[in-house]
Amino acid sequence: MGEIPFTYVSESDRVIVFEDLLFDGLAPATTERHRAFVRLEDISPKADPNQLRAMADYLYSQRIPYGINVIPVYTDPKGVYNNGKAETVTLAQAPQVVAELKYMLSHGAVLMNHGYTHQYKNLANPYTGVTGDDFEFFRAHVDASDNVIYDGPVTEDSTIWAQGRITSALAAFTTAGLPKPTLWTTPHYAASATDYKVFGQNYTARLERSLYFAGTLSGGAVNASRYIGQFFPYAVKDVYGTSVLPENIGNYEPEPYNNHPARLPADLIASAKANLAVRDGVASFFYHPYYAVDPLKQTVDGIKALGYTFVGPTDLAQ
Ligand SMILES: [Zn+2]
Repeated sequence: MGEIPFTYVSESDRVIVFEDLLFDGLAPATTERHRAFVRLEDISPKADPNQLRAMADYLYSQRIPYGINVIPVYTDPKGVYNNGKAETVTLAQAPQVVAELKYMLSHGAVLMNHGYTHQYKNLANPYTGVTGDDFEFFRAHVDASDNVIYDGPVTEDSTIWAQGRITSALAAFTTAGLPKPTLWTTPHYAASATDYKVFGQNYTARLERSLYFAGTLSGGAVNASRYIGQFFPYAVKDVYGTSVLPENIGNYEPEPYNNHPARLPADLIASAKANLAVRDGVASFFYHPYYAVDPLKQTVDGIKALGYTFVGPTDLAQ
Protein backbone atom coordinates (compact mmCIF):
# COMPACT_ATOMS: atom_id res chain seq x y z
CA MET A 1 0.00 0.00 0.00
CA GLY A 2 1.39 3.38 -0.94
CA GLU A 3 0.18 6.69 0.45
CA ILE A 4 1.38 10.25 0.97
CA PRO A 5 -0.76 11.41 3.88
CA PHE A 6 0.37 15.06 3.73
CA THR A 7 -1.19 15.81 0.35
CA TYR A 8 -4.75 17.15 0.28
CA VAL A 9 -5.06 17.29 4.06
CA SER A 10 -8.26 18.52 5.64
CA GLU A 11 -9.66 18.73 9.17
CA SER A 12 -11.17 15.24 8.92
CA ASP A 13 -8.67 13.63 6.55
CA ARG A 14 -6.86 10.26 6.62
CA VAL A 15 -3.73 12.13 7.74
CA ILE A 16 -5.23 11.79 11.24
CA VAL A 17 -4.42 8.06 11.13
CA PHE A 18 -0.78 8.82 10.36
CA GLU A 19 -0.64 11.44 13.13
CA ASP A 20 -1.75 8.76 15.59
CA LEU A 21 0.61 6.09 14.23
CA LEU A 22 3.58 8.36 14.95
CA PHE A 23 3.08 7.65 18.67
CA ASP A 24 3.97 3.98 18.09
CA GLY A 25 7.38 4.96 16.79
CA LEU A 26 8.14 8.07 18.84
CA ALA A 27 6.28 7.84 22.16
CA PRO A 28 4.72 4.39 22.60
CA ALA A 29 4.08 4.91 26.34
CA THR A 30 1.68 7.80 25.65
CA THR A 31 -1.64 7.43 27.44
CA GLU A 32 -4.91 8.45 25.84
CA ARG A 33 -5.92 12.08 26.40
CA HIS A 34 -8.30 14.34 24.44
CA ARG A 35 -8.09 18.10 24.99
CA ALA A 36 -9.85 20.95 23.22
CA PHE A 37 -8.99 24.60 22.73
CA VAL A 38 -10.87 27.64 21.45
CA ARG A 39 -9.56 31.06 20.62
CA LEU A 40 -11.45 34.24 19.73
CA GLU A 41 -10.03 35.61 16.50
CA ASP A 42 -9.40 38.97 14.78
CA ILE A 43 -10.09 41.22 17.79
CA SER A 44 -9.00 44.70 16.70
CA PRO A 45 -9.45 48.17 18.27
CA LYS A 46 -12.67 48.39 16.20
CA ALA A 47 -14.22 45.33 17.89
CA ASP A 48 -17.61 45.76 19.54
CA PRO A 49 -17.06 45.83 23.34
CA ASN A 50 -20.55 44.40 23.98
CA GLN A 51 -19.85 41.40 21.78
CA LEU A 52 -16.55 40.79 23.57
CA ARG A 53 -18.35 40.89 26.92
CA ALA A 54 -20.96 38.38 25.71
CA MET A 55 -18.22 35.94 24.65
CA ALA A 56 -16.31 36.46 27.91
CA ASP A 57 -19.36 35.88 30.11
CA TYR A 58 -20.41 32.74 28.24
CA LEU A 59 -16.93 31.15 28.32
CA TYR A 60 -16.42 32.09 31.97
CA SER A 61 -19.82 30.64 32.88
CA GLN A 62 -18.58 27.34 31.42
CA ARG A 63 -15.17 27.71 33.16
CA ILE A 64 -13.49 27.40 29.75
CA PRO A 65 -9.99 28.88 29.41
CA TYR A 66 -9.40 30.40 25.97
CA GLY A 67 -7.16 32.55 23.80
CA ILE A 68 -7.89 36.06 22.57
CA ASN A 69 -6.11 36.84 19.31
CA VAL A 70 -5.64 40.60 19.14
CA ILE A 71 -4.58 42.85 16.25
CA PRO A 72 -3.22 45.96 18.03
CA VAL A 73 -3.73 48.47 15.19
CA TYR A 74 -6.82 48.73 12.97
CA THR A 75 -6.41 50.48 9.64
CA ASP A 76 -8.61 51.06 6.61
CA PRO A 77 -6.27 53.04 4.34
CA LYS A 78 -8.78 53.43 1.51
CA GLY A 79 -11.81 54.10 3.69
CA VAL A 80 -13.60 51.01 2.36
CA TYR A 81 -15.77 50.82 5.50
CA ASN A 82 -15.61 54.57 6.24
CA ASN A 83 -17.16 56.40 3.26
CA GLY A 84 -13.89 56.65 1.40
CA LYS A 85 -12.03 58.32 4.26
CA ALA A 86 -8.90 56.60 5.59
CA GLU A 87 -9.18 55.47 9.21
CA THR A 88 -6.63 54.11 11.70
CA VAL A 89 -7.37 53.23 15.34
CA THR A 90 -4.80 51.91 17.83
CA LEU A 91 -5.60 49.96 20.99
CA ALA A 92 -4.65 53.00 23.06
CA GLN A 93 -7.34 54.94 21.17
CA ALA A 94 -9.95 52.28 22.03
CA PRO A 95 -10.19 52.27 25.86
CA GLN A 96 -13.52 50.39 25.90
CA VAL A 97 -12.02 47.53 23.89
CA VAL A 98 -8.95 47.50 26.15
CA ALA A 99 -11.24 47.39 29.21
CA GLU A 100 -13.01 44.32 27.76
CA LEU A 101 -9.69 42.65 26.96
CA LYS A 102 -8.61 43.19 30.59
CA TYR A 103 -11.95 41.78 31.74
CA MET A 104 -11.33 38.71 29.60
CA LEU A 105 -7.78 38.32 30.95
CA SER A 106 -9.18 38.28 34.49
CA HIS A 107 -11.80 35.67 33.49
CA GLY A 108 -9.79 32.85 31.92
CA ALA A 109 -8.38 34.35 28.70
CA VAL A 110 -4.76 34.35 27.51
CA LEU A 111 -3.58 37.26 25.35
CA MET A 112 -2.25 36.35 21.91
CA ASN A 113 -0.89 38.53 19.10
CA HIS A 114 -2.42 38.22 15.63
CA GLY A 115 -0.27 40.46 13.42
CA TYR A 116 0.43 44.18 13.61
CA THR A 117 -2.29 45.43 11.20
CA HIS A 118 -3.45 42.17 9.49
CA GLN A 119 -3.34 43.90 6.08
CA TYR A 120 -0.67 45.16 3.68
CA LYS A 121 -0.02 48.81 2.76
CA ASN A 122 -2.98 50.40 0.93
CA LEU A 123 -3.35 47.44 -1.43
CA ALA A 124 -6.05 44.84 -1.94
CA ASN A 125 -4.23 41.77 -0.59
CA PRO A 126 -6.48 40.22 -1.76
CA TYR A 127 -9.71 41.93 -0.64
CA THR A 128 -10.03 45.43 0.83
CA GLY A 129 -6.75 46.50 2.42
CA VAL A 130 -8.60 46.61 5.75
CA THR A 131 -7.41 45.08 9.03
CA GLY A 132 -8.70 41.53 9.50
CA ASP A 133 -9.57 41.09 5.83
CA ASP A 134 -6.16 40.84 4.20
CA PHE A 135 -2.81 39.08 4.36
CA GLU A 136 -0.02 40.98 6.13
CA PHE A 137 3.14 38.92 5.51
CA PHE A 138 2.37 37.36 2.10
CA ARG A 139 0.88 38.55 -1.21
CA ALA A 140 -2.30 37.07 -2.68
CA HIS A 141 -4.96 37.80 -5.26
CA VAL A 142 -8.36 36.35 -6.21
CA ASP A 143 -8.48 34.82 -9.69
CA ALA A 144 -11.32 34.73 -12.23
CA SER A 145 -12.64 31.47 -10.72
CA ASP A 146 -12.86 33.07 -7.25
CA ASN A 147 -9.87 31.16 -5.86
CA VAL A 148 -7.39 32.90 -3.56
CA ILE A 149 -3.99 32.53 -5.23
CA TYR A 150 -0.82 32.95 -3.15
CA ASP A 151 1.78 35.14 -4.90
CA GLY A 152 4.70 34.74 -2.48
CA PRO A 153 6.48 36.89 0.11
CA VAL A 154 6.12 40.69 -0.02
CA THR A 155 8.71 42.52 -2.14
CA GLU A 156 10.54 44.05 0.82
CA ASP A 157 10.46 40.85 2.88
CA SER A 158 13.45 40.58 5.24
CA THR A 159 14.30 39.91 8.87
CA ILE A 160 14.44 43.66 9.52
CA TRP A 161 11.06 44.32 7.86
CA ALA A 162 9.30 41.55 9.79
CA GLN A 163 10.98 42.52 13.07
CA GLY A 164 9.87 46.11 12.54
CA ARG A 165 6.23 45.05 12.38
CA ILE A 166 6.58 42.84 15.47
CA THR A 167 8.30 45.62 17.42
CA SER A 168 5.49 48.02 16.46
CA ALA A 169 2.82 45.48 17.41
CA LEU A 170 4.31 44.80 20.84
CA ALA A 171 4.74 48.53 21.48
CA ALA A 172 1.04 49.08 20.73
CA PHE A 173 0.07 46.54 23.44
CA THR A 174 2.38 48.24 25.95
CA THR A 175 1.07 51.73 25.13
CA ALA A 176 -2.48 50.48 25.75
CA GLY A 177 -1.50 49.13 29.18
CA LEU A 178 -1.84 45.48 28.22
CA PRO A 179 0.66 42.73 29.04
CA LYS A 180 3.13 41.53 26.40
CA PRO A 181 1.61 38.61 24.46
CA THR A 182 3.84 35.53 24.30
CA LEU A 183 1.90 33.61 21.63
CA TRP A 184 1.62 34.50 17.95
CA THR A 185 -0.76 33.63 15.11
CA THR A 186 0.18 34.79 11.59
CA PRO A 187 -2.63 36.63 9.77
CA HIS A 188 -4.29 34.27 7.27
CA TYR A 189 -1.66 31.65 8.18
CA ALA A 190 0.87 32.80 5.56
CA ALA A 191 4.39 34.20 5.84
CA SER A 192 7.86 33.60 4.42
CA ALA A 193 10.48 31.33 6.00
CA THR A 194 12.33 34.50 7.02
CA ASP A 195 9.24 35.86 8.78
CA TYR A 196 8.51 32.60 10.62
CA LYS A 197 12.02 32.69 12.10
CA VAL A 198 11.43 36.26 13.30
CA PHE A 199 8.15 35.26 14.95
CA GLY A 200 9.98 32.42 16.71
CA GLN A 201 12.50 34.89 18.15
CA ASN A 202 9.76 37.10 19.64
CA TYR A 203 7.20 34.64 21.01
CA THR A 204 7.41 31.38 22.96
CA ALA A 205 5.18 29.62 20.42
CA ARG A 206 3.09 30.10 17.29
CA LEU A 207 -0.45 28.75 17.40
CA GLU A 208 -1.44 28.17 13.77
CA ARG A 209 -1.12 26.34 10.50
CA SER A 210 2.09 27.13 8.60
CA LEU A 211 3.76 27.17 5.22
CA TYR A 212 6.96 25.14 4.79
CA PHE A 213 9.23 26.00 1.86
CA ALA A 214 11.47 23.86 -0.33
CA GLY A 215 15.06 24.12 0.86
CA THR A 216 14.20 24.78 4.51
CA LEU A 217 14.81 21.24 5.77
CA SER A 218 18.12 20.77 3.91
CA GLY A 219 19.40 24.15 5.07
CA GLY A 220 19.94 25.24 1.47
CA ALA A 221 18.51 28.24 -0.35
CA VAL A 222 14.79 28.61 0.35
CA ASN A 223 12.58 28.49 -2.73
CA ALA A 224 9.79 30.94 -1.88
CA SER A 225 7.59 29.66 -4.71
CA ARG A 226 7.55 26.01 -3.61
CA TYR A 227 5.87 25.18 -0.32
CA ILE A 228 3.28 23.06 1.40
CA GLY A 229 0.86 23.98 4.16
CA GLN A 230 0.75 21.76 7.23
CA PHE A 231 -1.15 21.62 10.49
CA PHE A 232 -0.94 19.38 13.50
CA PRO A 233 -3.26 17.90 16.16
CA TYR A 234 -0.65 18.39 18.92
CA ALA A 235 2.27 20.65 19.77
CA VAL A 236 5.36 20.20 17.59
CA LYS A 237 8.76 21.84 17.17
CA ASP A 238 8.95 22.79 13.50
CA VAL A 239 11.80 23.28 10.98
CA TYR A 240 11.91 26.97 11.85
CA GLY A 241 12.96 25.91 15.37
CA THR A 242 9.72 27.13 16.96
CA SER A 243 7.09 25.46 19.12
CA VAL A 244 3.87 25.31 17.12
CA LEU A 245 0.61 24.77 19.00
CA PRO A 246 -2.23 23.01 17.19
CA GLU A 247 -5.07 24.43 15.10
CA ASN A 248 -6.69 21.52 13.33
CA ILE A 249 -10.47 22.06 13.35
CA GLY A 250 -10.86 25.41 11.56
CA ASN A 251 -13.57 27.95 12.38
CA TYR A 252 -17.28 28.64 12.30
CA GLU A 253 -18.05 30.21 8.91
CA PRO A 254 -21.79 30.36 8.16
CA GLU A 255 -21.38 31.46 4.51
CA PRO A 256 -19.22 29.86 1.79
CA TYR A 257 -16.44 32.07 0.38
CA ASN A 258 -13.74 31.68 -2.32
CA ASN A 259 -14.87 28.12 -3.06
CA HIS A 260 -14.59 27.11 0.59
CA PRO A 261 -17.85 25.59 1.85
CA ALA A 262 -19.53 26.99 4.97
CA ARG A 263 -18.43 25.36 8.24
CA LEU A 264 -21.19 25.00 10.81
CA PRO A 265 -21.01 23.74 14.40
CA ALA A 266 -21.88 20.21 13.19
CA ASP A 267 -18.88 20.31 10.82
CA LEU A 268 -16.48 21.41 13.56
CA ILE A 269 -17.84 18.74 15.89
CA ALA A 270 -17.49 16.07 13.17
CA SER A 271 -13.82 17.02 12.69
CA ALA A 272 -13.27 16.87 16.45
CA LYS A 273 -14.83 13.41 16.44
CA ALA A 274 -12.50 12.24 13.66
CA ASN A 275 -9.54 13.54 15.67
CA LEU A 276 -10.44 11.25 18.58
CA ALA A 277 -8.39 8.72 16.57
CA VAL A 278 -5.25 10.58 17.74
CA ARG A 279 -4.49 9.01 21.11
CA ASP A 280 -3.16 12.27 22.61
CA GLY A 281 -4.63 14.88 20.32
CA VAL A 282 -6.25 18.29 20.56
CA ALA A 283 -9.40 19.65 18.91
CA SER A 284 -8.41 23.29 18.40
CA PHE A 285 -10.71 25.75 16.66
CA PHE A 286 -11.33 29.48 16.48
CA TYR A 287 -14.34 31.75 16.54
CA HIS A 288 -15.02 35.33 15.50
CA PRO A 289 -16.70 37.29 18.32
CA TYR A 290 -18.81 39.26 15.84
CA TYR A 291 -20.93 36.13 15.44
CA ALA A 292 -23.63 35.27 17.96
CA VAL A 293 -22.82 33.27 21.09
CA ASP A 294 -25.16 30.42 20.21
CA PRO A 295 -23.09 28.70 17.46
CA LEU A 296 -20.08 28.88 19.80
CA LYS A 297 -22.14 27.27 22.54
CA GLN A 298 -23.33 24.52 20.17
CA THR A 299 -19.74 23.83 19.14
CA VAL A 300 -18.40 23.79 22.69
CA ASP A 301 -21.22 21.54 23.89
CA GLY A 302 -20.69 19.13 20.98
CA ILE A 303 -16.95 18.90 21.50
CA LYS A 304 -17.37 18.42 25.26
CA ALA A 305 -19.90 15.64 24.61
CA LEU A 306 -17.22 13.77 22.65
CA GLY A 307 -15.15 13.58 25.83
CA TYR A 308 -12.77 16.48 25.23
CA THR A 309 -11.60 18.75 28.07
CA PHE A 310 -11.03 22.43 27.26
CA VAL A 311 -7.63 23.85 28.25
CA GLY A 312 -5.81 27.15 27.78
CA PRO A 313 -3.24 27.74 25.02
CA THR A 314 -0.18 27.51 27.26
CA ASP A 315 -1.35 24.07 28.45
CA LEU A 316 -1.09 22.82 24.87
CA ALA A 317 2.71 22.94 24.97
CA GLN A 318 2.72 19.90 27.30
ZN1 LIG B 1 -7.16 36.81 11.18
